[in-house]
Order: sequence, then structure tokens, then C-alpha cells
Amino acid sequence: MAMPVTLIPGDGIGPEVVNAAVEVIEAAGVQLQWERVAAGAGAVATHGTPIPAETIESIRRNKLALKGPLATPVGEGYRSANVALRKEFDLYANVRPARSFAGVESRYSGVDLVVIRENTQGLYSGVEHYVDDDHNAAESISIITRKGSERIIQYAFDYVRARHRRRLTLVHKANILKCTSGLFLEVGRGIAAKNPDIDFREMIVDNCAMQLVRNPNQFDVLVTTNLFGDILSDLTSGLIGGLGLTAGANIGKDTAIFEAVHGTAPDIAGKGVSNPTAVMLAGSMLLEHIGERTAGDRLVTAVRETIAAREATTPDLGGSATTRMFTQAVVKRLR
Ligand code: NAD
Repeated sequence: MAMPVTLIPGDGIGPEVVNAAVEVIEAAGVQLQWERVAAGAGAVATHGTPIPAETIESIRRNKLALKGPLATPVGEGYRSANVALRKEFDLYANVRPARSFAGVESRYSGVDLVVIRENTQGLYSGVEHYVDDDHNAAESISIITRKGSERIIQYAFDYVRARHRRRLTLVHKANILKCTSGLFLEVGRGIAAKNPDIDFREMIVDNCAMQLVRNPNQFDVLVTTNLFGDILSDLTSGLIGGLGLTAGANIGKDTAIFEAVHGTAPDIAGKGVSNPTAVMLAGSMLLEHIGERTAGDRLVTAVRETIAAREATTPDLGGSATTRMFTQAVVKRLR
């Protein structure tokens, strides 16, 4: 029987890119039983909540989900459904690979980076409030624990070893945030000492941002705390040509949710011109996760070859093809 997978189409361009990903996964020869459920702003409209109970139940049952982007109100309103899902299922590792594409104009070639971000703690712990009723001051608490740091840094070391990568850089701000970032760095140094076979380096986050822009090829895999990882992984997406091209995995002990790094793209929603590459690549990460590595690799190759051939290029990459045309081109290569 086909494996059940929770499918969250999401908001804005979400449904069109997610449907495109489902189509290419099927064309890659893997039959999955998709269980469609709602989340995000659409779910607020239909169910009165950004994460309906049936969505949580579906993920809890299947332990596996492919998710489109979810809209989050800025500066007010309900808490991010993405952050809430990561917390609910303790999806502590956020893995975002960024690899250059042939056929995509960008500042660099040969970029091949992975940002591994702690996904449940730090400044995204959700502990913040206004100090007074007039909103003249606000404060936020960053929570870092030894256990939380150990599991993400150990995950990063294991990732580097399993994939035969060459280097792990721990990114921190322990010169200023001596306790929170300091604890993360202390744990990292301890784990590094037990893994001398891996080239371990450490770098302060502001310098890291500058170094990534100047010479990204000096890096390989990066591990860092929540906020720094969020920002740096968008930066690494920018290095290879933009948000439409990078996928992310949210991994926990027994549950995993795969998604694009980008958001709902309200400026192009409903026009049918979004680039579905990121969710397609998220689909390939999902396939690898369930042991369908060959199909996942074929999917990645088909997407990359379609982009390189520039035969169905979407507007974000300078073409005029629709989401549909790009999807059909990928499907044709897979068949
Ligand atoms: P965004 O990623 O939606 O858009 C930024 C820019 O990139 C826009 O110009 C957009 O058109 C473009 N873009 C993004 N994805 C694209 C694609 N697949 N193809 C072509 N162009 C693409 O970022 P934003 O505007 O800052 O956020 C919009 C909404 O998305 C907000 O509500 C935000 O909270 C949400 N968001 C959700 C997630 C998620 O669910 N994981 C991630 C980021 C932002």
C-alpha cells in the first residue's frame, strides 16, 4: 500500500507549487497516498484557526508532510503556523541546501552550501511581550539549552559525515551574547573535540554574512541558532539565484515536514507564474528521507536539466513560462 503523506497546499502560490511537486513525484515513479489538509491564512478562513486539529492529527499519524508556504500577519495577529508546527512536532533541525544551478544567472558559480539551523529555540521561542500598555517598550527572551544545542550540533556532525561533506562551520555571536550564543559555542567545541575527523570551524555571525557574500566557496555546511540560520539561509538562497530555488527540511526525532524556503509570494499569487522548483526539491528531500533516494536523485536531475536547458523558464529567472509549462517539462524528462 502507498505510504500516506500529509499534504498542506498552504496560501498564496502554495497550492500551485505544491500540486506541481506532487505531479513530478508521481512522474518519478513513487506512489504516495496524499492526505490534503489545511493550514495558514486559508485555514483561518475555513476552520477559524491557522492549524486545525485534523491537520495536527494527520501529521501525527503519518509523521511525514509536504507543505506549501503559510501566510503570517506581520507585527500583529496569530503566531506563525510554521513556528507552531515546528514546536508541536519538535522539528529541531532545519536543513536548507543551496547549490548553484546551470542556466541561472547569479553572482557565483559552484556554490554548494547547507545551512543547518536550530529550529525550536533561540529568539523564536515565542517568549516576548510589551512591557507597558502603550507599547513604548517590548522584550523578547532567547532560550538556548545544552540539550537543544547538543542535538542540533550532533545532527550537523552526523550530516557532514554521512554525506561525505568537507567542513562544518558553527556560526555564533558569543562575543556579545555570552550566555546564549556562548552556550551554543561551548557545546559545539565539546562535540568537535570528539569528532576530530571533521574540519570544524567557528565564525561570528556578522563576519559570516560578509564572508558568504565575498567568497561563499570557503564554506560547506553551517550550523547555527534559529534567527541567524533563518537570515543566513535566505542569504545563501540569494547566492544561487533566489528564493524560488531552495528547499528546506524540518526534521524531528520521528516526524519530518518538507517545504520551500520561500513564502506565499503575494505579488504573483494567482497568476500561475511561480517557480515550483523549491517545493519540487523539497519533494526530493522527502523521497530521500523515506528511502527512495534513486527517485529523489532523478527528480533533482530532471529539475536541474530543465532549468539548464532554459526550455520553460519562469519569470523569476528571466523567462516567460508558466508554472504549468515548467512542470510539464520536468514531467517529460522524468518519463
Ligand atoms: P516571499 O518569499 O513570499 O516573497 C519574496 C519575493 O520572492 C517576492 O518577490 C516573490 O514573488 C518571490 N518569490 C518567492 N517565491 C517564489 C517562487 N516560488 N517563484 C517566483 N518568485 C518567488 O516572502 P515575503 O513576501 O517576505 O512573505 C510573504 C508571506 O509569506 C508572509 O506572510 C510570510 O510570513 C510568509 N512566509 C512563509 C514562509 C513559510 O511558510 N515557510 C516562509 C517565508 C515567508
